[in-house]
Amino acid sequence: MTNKPSILSSPVEYLKGVGPLRADLLKKEAAIFTFNDLLEYFPFRHIDKTQITNVNRITTETEYVQVVGKITSLEIIGEKRGRRLVASLHDGTGELELVWFQGINWLEKSLHVGRRYRVFGKAGFFMNTPQISHPEMEEVTEGVVEKNLFLEPVYPGTEKLKARNLGGRQIAKLTYTLLQMLSEKDVSENLPTSVLSTYHLIGRYQAFRQIHFPVNKQEYLDALKRLKFEELFISQLRLGFIRYKRHSFSKGLVFNKVGDCFNEFYNNNLPFELTGAQKRVLKEIRKDMGSGKQMNRLLQGDVGSGKTIVALMSMLIAADNGYQSCFMAPTEILARQHYESLSSLLRNIPVTVRILTGSSSAKEKKEILQATANGEITILTGTHALIEDNVLFRSLGLAIVDEQHRFGVAQRAKLWKKNEISPHVLVMTATPIPRTLALTAYGDLDYSIMDELPPGRKPVTTVHRMEYARPQVMDFIKSEIKLGRQAYIIYPLIEESAKLDFENLMKGYEEVKAFFPEPGFYISMVHGRQKSVQKQANMERFIKGDTQIMVSTTVIEVGVNVPNASVMLIESAEKFGLPQLHQLRGRVGRGSEKSYCILLTKVRLSADAKERLKIMCSTNNGFKIAEKDLEIRGPGDIEGTRQSGILNFKLANIIEDKKMLEAARYSAQKIIDEDPNLSMAGNECLKNFLLLYKGKTVWSKIS
Ligand code: ADP
Ligand code: MG
Repeated sequence: MTNKPSILSSPVEYLKGVGPLRADLLKKEAAIFTFNDLLEYFPFRHIDKTQITNVNRITTETEYVQVVGKITSLEIIGEKRGRRLVASLHDGTGELELVWFQGINWLEKSLHVGRRYRVFGKAGFFMNTPQISHPEMEEVTEGVVEKNLFLEPVYPGTEKLKARNLGGRQIAKLTYTLLQMLSEKDVSENLPTSVLSTYHLIGRYQAFRQIHFPVNKQEYLDALKRLKFEELFISQLRLGFIRYKRHSFSKGLVFNKVGDCFNEFYNNNLPFELTGAQKRVLKEIRKDMGSGKQMNRLLQGDVGSGKTIVALMSMLIAADNGYQSCFMAPTEILARQHYESLSSLLRNIPVTVRILTGSSSAKEKKEILQATANGEITILTGTHALIEDNVLFRSLGLAIVDEQHRFGVAQRAKLWKKNEISPHVLVMTATPIPRTLALTAYGDLDYSIMDELPPGRKPVTTVHRMEYARPQVMDFIKSEIKLGRQAYIIYPLIEESAKLDFENLMKGYEEVKAFFPEPGFYISMVHGRQKSVQKQANMERFIKGDTQIMVSTTVIEVGVNVPNASVMLIESAEKFGLPQLHQLRGRVGRGSEKSYCILLTKVRLSADAKERLKIMCSTNNGFKIAEKDLEIRGPGDIEGTRQSGILNFKLANIIEDKKMLEAARYSAQKIIDEDPNLSMAGNECLKNFLLLYKGKTVWSKIS
């Protein structure tokens, strides 16, 4: 079949009733350029004109109603601005009052007492009588009422469109004209028959007709289902093809050996038994790295699920195959902590671990860069300074990005260039992301999940306390410290006002000091204004147990690991988002002691804040929290996804249509597995569709 241009690609000005001026408006205001765009300009709801309501059934809850009755009186009353036309309409069950403030003279002449009308509008009450102002009126003759009942589409419009007489009504008219012109062959089906029948979907042409002008609710729902599925399916197909291409054509380093480093570590140095999830993920990573394709994997693990050790062992595999690795963290504190735990865990293994950050001295930096370039360093940890162009590796085989799934495509691409054959890339999330986002916004990556915590972890008990309970809260912290534990006290960081944050923190610090005047209660403080040596020194004292309390802004948010800390107090907890609260809370509950997280807030809270606090108190499960977060905030608000345009589905909603997304993902993957070139007869429709719309896709930005 040849791809001859379809009537749908005609410029919108060629539609009867449009013309150049209106076309210009449609383009500017609604991005409607072609017939197809108009067809895909969907109504956001329908006004139900299929029902006739009895007047005595109208209540204060009623919104839009349609009533049929006889006008029994009609008169103009009031003066000047209060001048109005009032009619009484009786339908045999009661009286409905109709009021107009405009067009009064003309209406008074055209409406007639004693005749029957179908009336439509928003119902209200005035002095206990139901009333509609400015109703739509249509005279009816006995017996033909039903013929005109329908669901009227309501389109999103802009003020400009309305002002130029292109409001929702006019758009509906244009769409109607267009649909009259089209026949089934003009709207080619793009989903294979097998998919249509598996998911009970109606055809594409039918769906377009029914989404605009359904005869009943069911028709509309059928159309909606079909078109939502199409959106999700096509997007999953595109993502699937990106993964497929990478798997089939990208050349990757082959790590087929598991050698001395790995084995020595695994057999004699592993400090604990790996969890089932850790083993499974390691297996997935080993398989990727041995496959000859470049790995691009997102590792999603809950806070404390033990991602670091998985990273470490993956880097040992690289080492066994003669390759270097780099391990990047979002903050210097975290990079240093990784450096320390890697060095200690690997002390008996013949690999060289070093750290490079912004605060490395010039001399040190020079030496490290050289040792990296000549291959003496096996594992280089550090901040994102590691991806700068001046950091050259002799043979970089694996790059791990910790605690940051937002590590962008551009940054990833930079990594890929660090070796002649791109190194394998493993991105580890700070907290779980909802599966729907993983499938859409990050759908080009393969991903692994660690949904199991190491054994013996006790869930952190989380409570919400109001400001006035502060003395009791402090007493509790004191009692925990007396038992030999440590505590975090966290202050919010609102970037718009660094000065205010700083003042709050200092005030807080003084308050904390006042609560703990006796000896034995030492305080560390870490905040963004400190030099990194200072931060490091304060952190160090807390890690060693020289200080019992860590007062901090969210700089310690990610990664920090002090198992003896058993209490976390979060000040102004209402100002934090869910992922952040969960991530913070993850700093406690890392040891064998029972741990607590106290969310301190002011008394008056917004509904959303209350909801967040409730969720935090009810679960420790990061995957659940991520889902809730998405529900509360909606996909449009999730950072980093809006600009990407990836989630701009016209109809589908990844929260409400989660099940459908899974189904779409499944069937798209099935097609790619069975017929990656779309050469089978049943898939021809898909191929044609993808070719036709190539270049218009948002997905092209990803690969
Ligand atoms: P995260 O996934 O949040 O980065 P970490 O890698 O920092 O978690 O691990 C959290 C803590 O759990 C560390 O103290 C680590 O030593 C410990 N840990 C990791 N895996 C296991 C395991 N299989 N058994 C016991 N403790 C473990
Ligand atoms: Mg970590």
